[in-house]
Amino acid sequence: MDRRDVADAVFDLLRRGAVGDAINLVAREDEADTRPRSPFFETRPCAESIRMALAANPRAVQGVSDEVLEHLRRAAVMVFLGFGHPSERWLPKGLSTGLRVDSESAVNLLVAYVQERRNILQASQHAHLISGVFIRQGSEQPFPPCPVCRTLEGKRWSLGEQPELPYEHCIHDMGCRCSYEFVYRGE
Ligand SMILES: [Zn+2]
Ligand SMILES: [Zn+2]
Repeated sequence: MDRRDVADAVFDLLRRGAVGDAINLVAREDEADTRPRSPFFETRPCAESIRMALAANPRAVQGVSDEVLEHLRRAAVMVFLGFGHPSERWLPKGLSTGLRVDSESAVNLLVAYVQERRNILQASQHAHLISGVFIRQGSEQPFPPCPVCRTLEGKRWSLGEQPELPYEHCIHDMGCRCSYEFVYRGE
């Protein structure tokens, strides 16, 4: 199966709610793929990220309808499965989210939410080693962070007290690209 066909088949399974089958299909195709693996991209499906993406309801996209949220979640899963770009391909044409960001950025917000949530969950497993959480701004270039996100810069939270990311009050056209940074005891 060529990669595009795999992607379409996977998406079709997701649409029918057959999440396990979708993950298995990706794993099987990945196994059969003899091309050299990219050192930069994880092609193996991460079931945990996918489960979280399908249930994600981040504050950064609050206000979208259940139907839109379903579309965004499925597109985010396609990103985690390695078929994401451009993620618009997995959204109905001209989908209007009602958000201040476009639909592609909205998918990115869901992906970032799952990634940052996973980072927090992972950190919580060795919470005794962590003395605080900072929020790091997204890259300056070519799109500097927004002034609202900048107000988070330099602040320190106890693990569990940190604001949710992506930051719901972000006013950037592409949405918040902040990430958590952990401070370890003794640092
Ligand atoms: Zn922002
Ligand atoms: Zn931000």
